[in-house]
Amino acid sequence: MEKTENIVIVGAGPIGIETAALLKRRGLHARHIDAGPIAATLDWWAPGTKFFSSPERLEIAGVPLVTRDQEKATREEYMAYLRAVAAQFKLPIETYTKLVDAERIEDSNTPDAPRFRLKLQRQPAPTDSTPDSPPTETVLATNLILATGNMDLPRLIGVEGETTTPWVSHYLKDPHHYYAKSVLIVGGKNSAVEAAIRLYRVGAKVALSYRRDRFDPERIKYWLLPELEWLIEKGRIVFHPETVPKTFEPGATTLKRLRPHPEGEYFKTASDFVLLLTGYDQDKTLFEKLGVDLSGEEQRPLFNRETMQTSIEGLFVAGTATGGSQKRAKVFIETSHVHAQRIAATLAGEQTNTPDPEYGRLEEA
Ligand SMILES: Cc1cc2nc3c(=O)[nH]c(=O)nc-3n(C[C@H](O)[C@H](O)[C@H](O)COP(=O)(O)OP(=O)(O)OC[C@H]3O[C@@H](n4cnc5c(N)ncnc54)[C@H](O)[C@@H]3O)c2cc1C
Repeated sequence: MEKTENIVIVGAGPIGIETAALLKRRGLHARHIDAGPIAATLDWWAPGTKFFSSPERLEIAGVPLVTRDQEKATREEYMAYLRAVAAQFKLPIETYTKLVDAERIEDSNTPDAPRFRLKLQRQPAPTDSTPDSPPTETVLATNLILATGNMDLPRLIGVEGETTTPWVSHYLKDPHHYYAKSVLIVGGKNSAVEAAIRLYRVGAKVALSYRRDRFDPERIKYWLLPELEWLIEKGRIVFHPETVPKTFEPGATTLKRLRPHPEGEYFKTASDFVLLLTGYDQDKTLFEKLGVDLSGEEQRPLFNRETMQTSIEGLFVAGTATGGSQKRAKVFIETSHVHAQRIAATLAGEQTNTPDPEYGRLEEA
């Protein structure tokens, strides 16, 4: 016998947690799962990474976020804060539980009848001995909230070996690992620029390859760009503008020049490690399976701005999941609190008249 849930929330990042907290405040119970630990997206950021948003803009359900030094929160501070919020609201989040398949139940014609059949699968936690076939469970849901984020897949650059070569990665690890090593960073936006500065400061020999001739000040935290430019000017970080990687080999990467150059089209640069910090895309599988309309180049799910409901009755979307594969971040935590408020109000049968935040207006989907 399949169990029926009134509300299932998928994703326990900041906005999934906020949605659960606001539902709980209204006395509504939700089954809440995450494929990883809570805040799994933050889990892969390098230790010590700081938010660009100020603490008060990251606060969940009105719970104050107090940082150690009154500065912006670090990844670790915010993860501890999210654990405290989840504990304070006694949210029954089932971690390491993934929604692996979902389908609509077409013949659900009464308002409370289940509309979705969901297949959940236990994921091996880092501490588990990996089971051969993790157990699955089927649940029926009347309302489904996808707060699944949008940074599921690294944006590939199309160079052979980029996902299989051990010293090539799309993720910055603990900067300490790179001490006294040569590191080639590929990219020219926040994550690449921030990584270049941090790795220089841990004693790595850093080179930065970017396909453009200069950095766009609009797309880089305003305090990072002058630091990077100074380090490049002083020769402490080597900048290879208008280049892209061609091949990876142990200890070196061949870069291709995108403009004619007297020294030829290709050259080698030392690289014990290569970091391809070129962004991340959203996994659209669940949206596609459920038939959610996706729009534009970024394939953003379409939804009603008052309620956050998609074109499918009972299916809501929240947080950065609403942003599709963002080429330029327009949806992030501070612009997404309203999603949680709108969904909780809608499911509680309240009028939803939550205005858009004055900073970072939500774009019409
Ligand atoms: C280095 C860095 C710095 C950043 N700084 C900021 C900042 O200063 N301010 C800001 O607002 N944002 C920042 N961001 C973006 C930030 O990560 C997102 O805004 C935030 O995590 C979005 O929250 P969310 O709850 O919408 O989604 P996420 O935090 O991405 O959470 C989605 C959750 O859904 C889970 N999930 C996905 N699919 C499934 C499934 N099928 N089944 C079960 N669970 C699933 C994931 O495991 C994950 O835990 C930064 C990102 C990076 C990489």
